[in-house]
Amino acid sequence: MSHSVTQINGTWDCANFIGNEFVVAQSGKTFENRSPVDHRLIGQVSEAGQPEVEAAVRAARAALEGPWGKLDIAKRSELLYAVGDEINRRFDDFLQAEVADTGKPVSLASHLDIPRGAANFRIFADVVKNVPSEFFSMSTPDGAGAINYALRVPKGVIAVICPWNLPLLLMTWKVGPALACGNAVIVKPSEETPSTATLLGEVMKKVGVPAGVYNVVHGFGPGSAGEYLTRHPGVNAITFTGETATGSAIMKAAAEGVRGVSFELGGKNAGVVFADCDFQAAIEGIGRAVFANCGQVCLGTERVYVERPIFDRFVTALKAKAESLKPGRPEATGTGIGPLISREHQRKVLSYYQKAKDEGAHVVAGGGVPSMPGELADGAWIEPTIWTGLPETSAVIREEIFGPCCHIAPFDTEEEAVRLANDTAYGLATTVWTTNLTRAHRVAARIEVGICWINSWFLRDLRTPFGGSKQSGIGREGGVHSLEFYTELRNVCIKL
Ligand code: NAD
Repeated sequence: MSHSVTQINGTWDCANFIGNEFVVAQSGKTFENRSPVDHRLIGQVSEAGQPEVEAAVRAARAALEGPWGKLDIAKRSELLYAVGDEINRRFDDFLQAEVADTGKPVSLASHLDIPRGAANFRIFADVVKNVPSEFFSMSTPDGAGAINYALRVPKGVIAVICPWNLPLLLMTWKVGPALACGNAVIVKPSEETPSTATLLGEVMKKVGVPAGVYNVVHGFGPGSAGEYLTRHPGVNAITFTGETATGSAIMKAAAEGVRGVSFELGGKNAGVVFADCDFQAAIEGIGRAVFANCGQVCLGTERVYVERPIFDRFVTALKAKAESLKPGRPEATGTGIGPLISREHQRKVLSYYQKAKDEGAHVVAGGGVPSMPGELADGAWIEPTIWTGLPETSAVIREEIFGPCCHIAPFDTEEEAVRLANDTAYGLATTVWTTNLTRAHRVAARIEVGICWINSWFLRDLRTPFGGSKQSGIGREGGVHSLEFYTELRNVCIKL
């Protein structure tokens, strides 16, 4: 049996993609892919075991030693442009698959997930063509001298381990530069969102990417495809986006064989709103940072600090924003918020909603599960939620929840705001709202994060460095920075 993401009786079944073929695991093991909207069965996913991971590594090695390894940069870039074009041509298929897996509103996926998925191939195809390497000439005792130049060579086989919140976008953010740099990849998508990675296999094959360059193995983490892949000695480097605790487990696996890692991990991001902000813009911006994608964005804000003079007004306005977000089917007009990814994640988020109550929070908005009609009642719905009044030591303020919720606390001085923002083990992103330009620069330089937005949120120029400080990550990806992980410099020294 061989199938990819095929529609069979209204369900989507996902096979592994190895050596340009769709492959069902030898073990015959499958797991269910269920809709977060109404818990209906979307399809079965073939769970890769050790034989499939082994086959994927073999296919990737063969590609590097075969036609892919011999392709020049111009040809590789052309192929990646073709991948981006083909994703756009099949835009509706990708959109349907992504929305089915995540339940996110079509309005969001059609503006963010799918276009960015295609753009990630084009941007990195351009980057690799335009980055020079270095050259040094040196003198030698015999007077003839020597020259040095650096060649950029691919790392080899890259394992790409992805989360479920922005499946296509975050996966292509790694696959795009990895392939542009001449590597071969083995992708392990999240077990929650297997479809778009599988569909991308069809695209790769269609546009003529050689067999073994792009492979997909499905499954879970420990005792499944994720662990088998990251432990495999034939994998040269691992790029991972997901929880910090998972990053730690993967780092242990990578230690065997001293293999490189690039990590984009969790966050507990602060939003800082000064009294001199453009108030409406700040409400819009923080509203997106807290509630977009049902709060399941690593860059999202779960701690908001507001300067005291505008605190009450801000809380009232954000409450109105939260209450204006209507849950509904992804394709329905007027849907402002989708469900969480799964019932399991819903349980986790609700446990924090309970903790907040137990610790004496004032629940400004939400705090529970909305009542949904008909079959939607089986979905992983959650209310957008705002709290005030908790101490900074509360688990709700210290731990990443990954839901559409935030705690809002007042501050009195810039010094205090910076201290509060930095008082976390994480360091991914922050969003600061002020019209005082001098203050903006001053604060941005002091907040310990990989990305600091001023008067904006999730505004991304893909040429800029992206990553986290402290426990939010290791390394930077984006633009030329991706080359640091996906290539190695080989110095050639020639005695003249
Ligand atoms: P997760 O860590 O649970 O899973 C991510 C991936 O790792 C999945 O594919 C999973 O199957 C795999 N995995 C789990 N255990 C593994 C193991 N031992 N070995 C190998 N693979 C393993 O994360 P998630 O719940 O899918 O995603 C949400 C998390 O991702 C949040 O913490 C969020 O902040 C983070 N995230 C970070 C960024 C960023 O750019 N920093 C972006 C998006 C999401």
